[in-house]
Amino acid sequence: MTTYNIDITLSTTKKEKPQADKLQFGKTFTDHMFIMDYALGHGWHDARIIPYQSLSLDPASMIFHYGQSVFEGLKAYLTEKDQVLLFRPDQNFKRFNISNDRLCIPHLDEDFALEALKQLIQIDREWIPTAAGTSLYIRPFIISTEPYLGVAPSTNYQFIIILSPVGSYYKEGLAPIKISVESEYVRAVAGGTGTAKTGGNYASSLKAQQQSGDKGYSQVLWLDGVNRKYIEEVGSMNIFFKIDGEVVTPMVNGSILEGITRKSILQLLRYWDIPVSERLISIDEIKQAYADGKLEEAFGTGTAAVIAPVGELFWNDEKMTINNGQTGPVSQKLYDTLTGIQTGTLEDPFGWVVEVPSEVESLLHSNVITR
Ligand SMILES: *Cc1c(COP(=O)(O)O)cnc(C)c1O
Repeated sequence: MTTYNIDITLSTTKKEKPQADKLQFGKTFTDHMFIMDYALGHGWHDARIIPYQSLSLDPASMIFHYGQSVFEGLKAYLTEKDQVLLFRPDQNFKRFNISNDRLCIPHLDEDFALEALKQLIQIDREWIPTAAGTSLYIRPFIISTEPYLGVAPSTNYQFIIILSPVGSYYKEGLAPIKISVESEYVRAVAGGTGTAKTGGNYASSLKAQQQSGDKGYSQVLWLDGVNRKYIEEVGSMNIFFKIDGEVVTPMVNGSILEGITRKSILQLLRYWDIPVSERLISIDEIKQAYADGKLEEAFGTGTAAVIAPVGELFWNDEKMTINNGQTGPVSQKLYDTLTGIQTGTLEDPFGWVVEVPSEVESLLHSNVITR
């Protein structure tokens, strides 16, 4: 690991924390943020934790014009024993560099990034909400900051981490969501940026999302961009179906985002000896399974929602009601197990959780300035 000194400037004021029952997803941010700069020839430098604040950027900064950016999303949980746990953070920083690669952004030292995150969480630890279903959402991201109106990889970047106490991602909680299959727009194609976690993928998804929302659906289910036939994923989640006793999910094909929740669920299902396969799944197959009464469950998976059961799937003017619009047993068991491991109430046989050590330790290794 390359170690960088982290300068810490503590905030002299503390913001008011939201009430547990009023937590909305991604609307409130903690007292501090992590930030680090990159310059060509100088590398990553000036790692610092500072009071949460606005950025000051040149209007010509390349991020505003060509969208060269990447992000990650993970969560910290406070356990009953007052420990702070992260869920597979190494996987997030590994994927961060995969995204960086695709977007021509310089790699970060993954171990250092995790260290920096731990320090930031230690400082804002009291922001981790404790009520069931709540957590501290973590958003690491990188933006291109070189002031230049030319299309080329930027020579300057900022790596930033912000934290947000959150409740459930969907207002429905674990109650099933309704999704509609998108047949006009596409999210990504193999060779594009679908496998990278980058803002542009989301910008291009908004139109479909908005139209689906107008019809009363909370997310769209994307089909592949070439045949307009094979299932890809849902807005910000991977998708699973249970058909005639077998759990199926689209294989990693060069256009979907490989979710860490997806990966963990595949591991859990195999551990439980539940038949599972990663393969091509056409929308016609889903429709046929539904007609035959064999479409038993459907659920989306992602860090934000963990598991989002799908109660209704809309395609070609037809409504498919799945499991009577109720959360199915496999969805429920996966949700209970994953959240149990994440929050420390269930044993973690896979070595997935990483504890954030107590506050005192790390601050000894940094320069702390109080302003
Ligand atoms: C982040 C994301 C997911 C889910 O990934 P997790 O690692 O499970 O949170 C799925 N699809 C897209 C498009 C995403 O951006």
